[in-house]
Amino acid sequence: MHVKICGLTSVADARMAIEAGADAIGLNFVEGTPRALDPECAREISRAAAGRVLRVGVFRDATRERVAELVESVALDAVQLHGEESPEYVADLPYPVIKVLAGDATLPARAARYPKVDLLIDHPSGGGSGQSWNYELARELVSRGRRVWLAGGLSPENVGPAVRAARPHGVDASSSLESEPGRKSAQRVRAFIEAARAASDSRDRPDARGYFGDYGGRFVPETLVPAVEELSETYDALCEDPSFWDSLREERRTYAGRPTPLYFAERVSEDLGCRVYLKREELAHTGAHKINNAIGQALIARRMGKRRIIAETGAGQHGVATATACARYGLECEVYMGAEDMRRQALNVFRMELLGARVHAVESGSRTLKDAMSEALRDWATNVRTTYYLIGSTAGPDPYPRLVRDLQAVIGEEVREQILAAEGRLPDILIACIGGGSNALGLFHPFYDEPQVQMVGVEAAGEGLTLGRHSAPLAAGSPGVLHGSRSYVMQDDAGQIFPAHSIAAGLDYPGVGPEHAFYKDSGRAEYVYATDAEALDAFVYLARMEGIIPAFESAHAIAELRKRAARAPGSLIVLNLSGRGDKDVAEARDLLGKKT
Ligand SMILES: *Cc1c(COP(=O)(O)O)cnc(C)c1O
Repeated sequence: MHVKICGLTSVADARMAIEAGADAIGLNFVEGTPRALDPECAREISRAAAGRVLRVGVFRDATRERVAELVESVALDAVQLHGEESPEYVADLPYPVIKVLAGDATLPARAARYPKVDLLIDHPSGGGSGQSWNYELARELVSRGRRVWLAGGLSPENVGPAVRAARPHGVDASSSLESEPGRKSAQRVRAFIEAARAASDSRDRPDARGYFGDYGGRFVPETLVPAVEELSETYDALCEDPSFWDSLREERRTYAGRPTPLYFAERVSEDLGCRVYLKREELAHTGAHKINNAIGQALIARRMGKRRIIAETGAGQHGVATATACARYGLECEVYMGAEDMRRQALNVFRMELLGARVHAVESGSRTLKDAMSEALRDWATNVRTTYYLIGSTAGPDPYPRLVRDLQAVIGEEVREQILAAEGRLPDILIACIGGGSNALGLFHPFYDEPQVQMVGVEAAGEGLTLGRHSAPLAAGSPGVLHGSRSYVMQDDAGQIFPAHSIAAGLDYPGVGPEHAFYKDSGRAEYVYATDAEALDAFVYLARMEGIIPAFESAHAIAELRKRAARAPGSLIVLNLSGRGDKDVAEARDLLGKKT
């Protein structure tokens, strides 16, 4: 979250704003307006601010020559354009540009004419009125990946709700922070910056040490600390780099098949007495949401100059997604997999090999996922210079939980746009299944700040919670450390992790991402579970009702949908259909006793 204090008229005010924590200051060069500066005063302010904040020059329909002269003589870092500057004029300026547009109904069309530059969305009536406006318009641009600043009537009193509604890159205020015309009030500037940051914190979670409340962190051996720090710094830099998100967007569109549809499930809706939409992640390339994460992290690895990718996999689904992305980008791929899992999932082993990956059998311990995880971490520690460790869910040490969440948040961002287009409002209830938690967080996170939207995560209760044969750490586990972070885990009193079980291979994991642990304790999301039997029933149900065979994982969410609809009739529900069921058809046939 960036805060810009605009309309500064003195060195004293500039110093005060910088000390209060501003990231940018605006210097007004629009002749004839109350806060316009003469070049000499602007130069003094600029000198006082050099290297400490972004210095933005504010212009309206100025000639290129005038802009160039002031950029040079005042030493401006960027220019903000308030007039009718044409797209050609803007595209030709050789400086970072913030184009100002009014936040009225024509905004989407006008924004499209100014690609690539930052947009500052002003109050439709010109701002300064202290009234709020429809931030959804700005929000839509943000969800399309535009860098948006909010302005116009923002004050310490209303900036919080504005930030939560629009999630802008930055906010900008001027007159509302003055004690008298042309003089900023230190108290109001501080209050404004504090309120803006507090509102953005909820979405910028985790904190600087990688904690979501009590959960998360970096529980890695000393040898891996530089590796996670390097990744964390790289990722922070990429977050601010539009060219990274541009290339990711293009890959999502042309390779992964995004956006995936939001489908109104008509017969299910009629049957259950709710309005039910399915987010069709099963139509993404490779048949599940995992590709969103794999291509995102492969692009990050490429940016870091790492040509060798390692991953661990349980049932093989994450291994296949990783091998797919590595084939796409010509990266070397090595996957660790428990020997026992390799035997059970021979077809996925072949798939990975077909895609050019090398699969290493892990013979230690129980020869399953957690042994493969330890082996992958060991490899990473040894080969950290050349190797990128591609984690498959919102788990692992910081920054992985937030990084994977951000890469999967495309699911919820698309849902937001799609449901607004279809229903003109946000959903009442979101439902998703929980393995490590990535498809659920991808759906939930963009709705975090909308308290009216309920979030329901569905764990796998396997054969039932009482027998210990399940994969439901949130429902039946306790806080502990697994795979580099602190979260809920399935463990005995001595902290021994016990093996998970589920009919759904992708849910068969004894831990869960730390952000879910935080949501659970804070009550922001509700966590429930479905058994193997309920999931199998739901699998058949969706196939018959909609002609869609879901993955066993997603069938857990369908099972909860059927229970929830009965308790909340008439609700608008979005369910994340995380994957397709082709991979599970043979097993369903056995379980349903259809083998002849
Ligand atoms: C892997 C997988 C899951 C579980 O993983 P999350 O990280 O919790 O999303 C769910 N559904 C499908 C289809 C999967 O392949």
